[in-house]
Amino acid sequence: MDQEANFKLEKIPWPDWLPNSIRLTLNSIDGDEDLLRARCNEPHTYKFVSGIQSQKLNDLLQSIQKRSDHPITPYDISLHVYGWNVPYQRLSAFFYSNEVILVKILNGVRFGLYTENFIIALSCVRGLIEHIAYLNNAVKRIKSLMDENISLNFSDKWEKLALEIDNIYHATKINWESVLKNKYDCLNKKDIKYMESSSQPNREVKGSICGPIDILNEEVSGTRILYEVLCEFLHPNVGTIWSVANTTGYETNRYGVKFQTRELSIGKSNNINIMKLDGGLFSIIENTLLTLSKLLKYRTSVFDETEQIKKEVLSLIQLIVRDNVGVYKNIFQRNDECPCGSGVKVKQCCGR
Ligand SMILES: [Zn+2]
Repeated sequence: MDQEANFKLEKIPWPDWLPNSIRLTLNSIDGDEDLLRARCNEPHTYKFVSGIQSQKLNDLLQSIQKRSDHPITPYDISLHVYGWNVPYQRLSAFFYSNEVILVKILNGVRFGLYTENFIIALSCVRGLIEHIAYLNNAVKRIKSLMDENISLNFSDKWEKLALEIDNIYHATKINWESVLKNKYDCLNKKDIKYMESSSQPNREVKGSICGPIDILNEEVSGTRILYEVLCEFLHPNVGTIWSVANTTGYETNRYGVKFQTRELSIGKSNNINIMKLDGGLFSIIENTLLTLSKLLKYRTSVFDETEQIKKEVLSLIQLIVRDNVGVYKNIFQRNDECPCGSGVKVKQCCGR
């Protein structure tokens, strides 16, 4: 058994591109309800306008319309102007979290390979493909949206962008806000709340991750087929019968009928036996790691574009915010943080 284990470790050398250690710094801001505040490698503080605040903004705009006889307070105006930067904050949150999740999932791959738990490693790779595909799709969609609507006025363009980013940011049917606000000892199905169908993201990607994966496959060929294999690998039938088979063989009963037999077990040793008997798992893992390294290289080039996209979105928002800052000089003072979301003072930004 030890010999086989050595053979396995020689056969799969630690890939160069898979990080050995990860340094991750997480900062949090009291009172900010957004879950996504993180940055890899460097200490970084990020303020996000949370979903709840932007909900308040919508309420506010409606209430201002209703009560025109009431004076609008500086607080109302401040909240309104800060509200313009919600798409930028969400986009930043999405990009940062994608960066962080990459590190977390790669750690999962690493853990799976180290502990010879290939189900964990391959599950993580499957998740990673989905995240890269989703990032790639989001970047392409925002870029084409900016190009297509170049002639629109600022606020129409902002509205289209806000909707698109909202879809990217909330691309799930589960209402996480309502799920997470309660503390559960055990989460039951009835505790999971789904979003109203009107606020569910539009389903331009045909309701599944396969759309973005096909788009990714155009850039890194072989992604879709690998994804299919990994999905199949994690399929309950395959997982139950194949992944935990310890030994396989044939038996013939007394009527001459041949049966395939598999001894099923769990634990470290069965992985080694699977490879000896089926021979297939090695090639799956090797192909997976090869394709994954190509995907990670491609992801780097996609991720490089995110800074440019953020810049473009921010400058669009600044076009709107600048007017407001100019009009409400008493509310947005020179040393305040600029409401456009750039993170610098008003005097160095939109109030210059
Ligand atoms: Zn600004």
